[in-house]
Amino acid sequence: MFQDITTLLLDHTTFQDTVDIFVDRYRNMDAGIAIEIEARGFMFGPSIALAIGAKFVPFRKPRKLPGKVICEEYELEYGTDCLEMQVDAVQQGDRALIVDDLVATGGTLSAAIRLLECMGAQVVECGCVVGLPEVKGQCRLNGKPVYILVEPR
Ligand code: 5GP
Repeated sequence: MFQDITTLLLDHTTFQDTVDIFVDRYRNMDAGIAIEIEARGFMFGPSIALAIGAKFVPFRKPRKLPGKVICEEYELEYGTDCLEMQVDAVQQGDRALIVDDLVATGGTLSAAIRLLECMGAQVVECGCVVGLPEVKGQCRLNGKPVYILVEPR
């Protein structure tokens, strides 16, 4: 059951409302960087980063980012995948938000958290438009808070 968020993007008001909810939530959380996860995190994250005055830092699939990167592997339902981060993009002590479209098992967010912690950054919260409740992805986030806008039945 793939949850398609592209229909949300077609409705300007709903898209704007979605971004605004995250912006209202995060504007006073003192987050200096907003991590966006390829690819659908890029659909929401940059608008949120601009509105709250945070640096936009993309976490991408392997071999997409230039410069020195570090890689973190995570498990998929069948097999594994990797997320990469540019080492110069995150500094020790940075307060980071992580934005993605959807959390299912939490494997992707967990890899992003590990990358940030490896650089000495602090994860303020993970924000996702959709959370699949049956998978309880939050359990795999090592106690980091996750904010979910919609939980489909
Ligand atoms: P997880 O790692 O939590 O199991 O899966 C979340 C990641 O997979 C997210 O980056 C998300 O974009 C992608 N993903 C998995 N299932 C779906 C789905 O049904 N709909 C969308 N839009 N993305 C999904």
